[in-house]
Amino acid sequence: MSRFKYCPQCAKPLELALHGEMQRIACPDRACGYVHWDNPVPVVAAIVEHEGEIILARNALWPPKMFALITGFLEKNDPHPESGVLREVEEELGLKGRIGEFIGFYPFERMNQIIIAYHVIAEGTVNLGAELIEWKKTPLEQIKPWPAGTGYAVRDLQLRRGFTPPPFDMSMLRKPRNWHEISEKLLTAGQPSAEEFKGLRAIGVEAVINLALPTSDHALPDEDDILRGLGLRYHHIPVLFDAPTDDDFERFCAAMAAEDGHTVFVHCAANKRVSAFVYLWRVLKAGVPREIAERDLLAVWTPDPVWAAFIAARV
Ligand SMILES: [Zn+2]
Repeated sequence: MSRFKYCPQCAKPLELALHGEMQRIACPDRACGYVHWDNPVPVVAAIVEHEGEIILARNALWPPKMFALITGFLEKNDPHPESGVLREVEEELGLKGRIGEFIGFYPFERMNQIIIAYHVIAEGTVNLGAELIEWKKTPLEQIKPWPAGTGYAVRDLQLRRGFTPPPFDMSMLRKPRNWHEISEKLLTAGQPSAEEFKGLRAIGVEAVINLALPTSDHALPDEDDILRGLGLRYHHIPVLFDAPTDDDFERFCAAMAAEDGHTVFVHCAANKRVSAFVYLWRVLKAGVPREIAERDLLAVWTPDPVWAAFIAARV
């Protein structure tokens, strides 16, 4: 959602309105006509090769172990993204560089950016700019890509050079709300965003089971399209939160059986329905001891009377 509240042209409070088939923040005054289109912002990113290794840098605002590529906004006067990325490398690392190759465009939806990524070859002595506080050098093939934004560019350059990319760095994954890992192959959470689904695919999820209603909190109206676009199998089993049924649970068990051996992500709105169904499935179908399954259930929530009774009637 936009942080703008007032029309920048006439200062009237902005309102949501339908423009070009999308809800957008716009000025209610037709004579003014202002629409906040909120288009993605182009960002240039550099995989900087220096003496045969790749420079990763840490922004002063980031947590201690988080290193990433050199990135920056295009400036109004940059004649071309290539010169923009070389300018950023010089500003942030104090290095003169030249373009090795264009790697690709990468949407970074969470930040509403489109990343334009280059391989840059640089020489000289590193002299960090004001925004960065630390840097390190790593051979390209050893960088663990992160499942978002520029991480995909790292992975693509590794593939292009004939390396087998290391698995995605899970610690960099933005996890959906109420995330709970039952095992490496059974992951659960509340409703993810479209961007979070991409991250889930990047860490190896193959199928998604959704127990939420289309009207549940944070539901994505086009979740089936999003998952199809990502090549993930989708099982939608809407379960009424205040009236779960035997039939719902049997359908859930059938979906779990269909995905046996695959990495499955199960979600609802807040991981409550899911944690209860997964608990029952583990105890009744997977032979998991009750106390172990219960620990995972209680880590998410303490079932309310409806769900406590649903569980008690079955185990
Ligand atoms: Zn206006």
